[in-house]
Amino acid sequence: MILDGRKISAQVREELRAEVATLLSQGKRAPHLAVVIVGHNPASETYVASKLRACEQVGINATKCALPETVTEDQLLEVVRQLNADDDIDGFIVQLPLPAHIDEAKVLSTIDYHKDVDGLHPYNVGLTALGQPSLISATPRGIRELLSRYQIATEGKHVVVVGRSNIVGKPMAMLLMQKPYLELPKMSAASLGNATVTLCHSKTHDLKQICLTADIIIVAVGQPQMLTADMVRQGAVVIDVGINRVADDTAPKGYRLVGDVDFDKVAPKCSYITPVPGGVGPMTIASLLQNTMQAYMNRQ
Ligand code: NDP
Repeated sequence: MILDGRKISAQVREELRAEVATLLSQGKRAPHLAVVIVGHNPASETYVASKLRACEQVGINATKCALPETVTEDQLLEVVRQLNADDDIDGFIVQLPLPAHIDEAKVLSTIDYHKDVDGLHPYNVGLTALGQPSLISATPRGIRELLSRYQIATEGKHVVVVGRSNIVGKPMAMLLMQKPYLELPKMSAASLGNATVTLCHSKTHDLKQICLTADIIIVAVGQPQMLTADMVRQGAVVIDVGINRVADDTAPKGYRLVGDVDFDKVAPKCSYITPVPGGVGPMTIASLLQNTMQAYMNRQ
């Protein structure tokens, strides 16, 4: 069965749209997200455009701060400080990756953690690790929401996360292993968290054997079709985070998007699987909006 990220993302956005409408009807202002983008990375520009469009759809105000590729680290840090101090802004993100001359960690740790709607500030990462309420990195939050809304319980399951990035793999593993601390909507029959998690990376030995013991596999590597059918046991749940552009002369843009999973061969073995596109990507955007609403509410 396909885990339809587009459908669930639309549900989440509809719920947020209703929440924003209620705020406005009470005479309150709408939440406000700012997105900082540096340079002209085509993939980043596409993601930012999607995020801004999603805000517009639900009634969240959105401001784009586009900076040139040549911006200095100091100039970018100054923009971050201005956004920290701006009372109209509830949350903001700095779209990654940044150019090589800018220290990404320094920028992320300069963001006011109350406004850190990408959940990448060390304080929010620390709260997530401790199992305490925090702004959670959007992609893991979106995956958790997707599992929850399809009533896929993780309690007691062996979840293999492939990839240990700060954005996806590490926070995903932390969320799944912890004792759940909050009731998620629509999760009455599903228990999230309480999983037994194995976190794999490029130095892991016998990845295939480890994946074959997984009830749920979450792949965030960035290599087309790296998870093949012989690595997946019958009935497993497979979540494909990867977004890879592969050349395709027949596609209008000259490329098409594929995930990290050999979808056509893996899907027949799975109980549930996410497609690319239309799986995790739309959930990431929905979760960014949820985080923005959460940051807004926390400030009230
Ligand atoms: P990173 O490049 O930061 O991390 C990749 C991870 O994969 C690393 O931990 C790396 O190991 C591991 N890895 C690389 N090769 C192998 C291998 N052969 N076997 C096992 N592990 C391996 O990637 P991100 O987490 O940022 O992104 C991963 C993918 O997800 C990308 O395609 C990205 O575009 C996509 N993405 C999609 C999002 C969405 O919303 N759908 C959001 C964010 C990312 P090591 O640490 O040892 O180098």
